[in-house]
Amino acid sequence: MSVSWPGLKDLLALLDHWPAWKRIVQAPDRIEELEKRLAELEEKPIFPSCPHCGRPAWQMTESKPAGRLPDQIKGHRDLRFRCLDCGFEDVIRRVPE
Ligand SMILES: [Zn+2]
Repeated sequence: MSVSWPGLKDLLALLDHWPAWKRIVQAPDRIEELEKRLAELEEKPIFPSCPHCGRPAWQMTESKPAGRLPDQIKGHRDLRFRCLDCGFEDVIRRVPE
């Protein structure tokens, strides 16, 4: 009794019909692409989201004592924020708890 094994070409052709196999074949390129995107993201500083446009570009540009002297002594400060993307600005008063 002889068994005929399919050739490597036939096996690879058969595997191409299996969706999961296609993903496995594409994995090295996909991983390389993701590593590149991750490296780009790691280089950029991460800012909170802008309340106006929602992009992560909300940066504090100034911090100064706020209110009258008693409040200033208590540590009240006006924090000025500006969106690096859309330019929206706002001042938020920080009051220590
Ligand atoms: Zn914005």
